[in-house]
Amino acid sequence: MDKKLSNFYFWGAGYLLLVCAILTLTSSKVTDGEIQIVEKEVAPLLCFNVETSELRTSDTESGCLAPEESLGTEPINHTDVRPTQIDRTFEVRFLAAQVAAKEAGFNIRITSGFRTQQLQESLHADAVKKYGSEEEASKWVLPKEISHHTWGTAIDVNYPGDRKAAKWLEESGSTFGLCRVYKNEWWHFEPVIAPGELCPPMMANALESLPTPEVK
Ligand SMILES: [Zn+2]
Repeated sequence: MDKKLSNFYFWGAGYLLLVCAILTLTSSKVTDGEIQIVEKEVAPLLCFNVETSELRTSDTESGCLAPEESLGTEPINHTDVRPTQIDRTFEVRFLAAQVAAKEAGFNIRITSGFRTQQLQESLHADAVKKYGSEEEASKWVLPKEISHHTWGTAIDVNYPGDRKAAKWLEESGSTFGLCRVYKNEWWHFEPVIAPGELCPPMMANALESLPTPEVK
């Protein structure tokens, strides 16, 4: 072989090896970087199958498998648009709790859930008559614009009726994201927490849930 040509092959092969080495180093560095970024936080997620009454713990990455429905991972606040029925995730929370209550020997049922504004208005008017003032009435039945029953995010359980079973829900409801919120209403529950969180301290009554008027 010509000396020039063999020199060319020699240096050519050396150069190729160098390029390969650099490429390998660079790509392994990139891979290392990616591995460090890919740390994800996976929180538990409760899934309920209404057809089979089965409750399963999944996680936020895997989600629930249809026909399972999620109990959600946040407190349930009302929507901007007026609903015509109870919030579905809230309802699923209650249905899951109802099955657990039954297993513990208690029957819980919704005796008043979603209310139309018309119904709430007439309930509020009745309460004003009964308690003598707008303020006293609002401790028990809020006006139609603000009552969470008209927003599909409040339920009354076993009222008037089995208070012991409602007590079970008061004590165990947080697992499902359900809390009793008023000291004066043992029957009234709202989805104010994520399932598994602690319920906040109870308010004295519904009036306390209203924003305090600005003092001028
Ligand atoms: Zn209520």
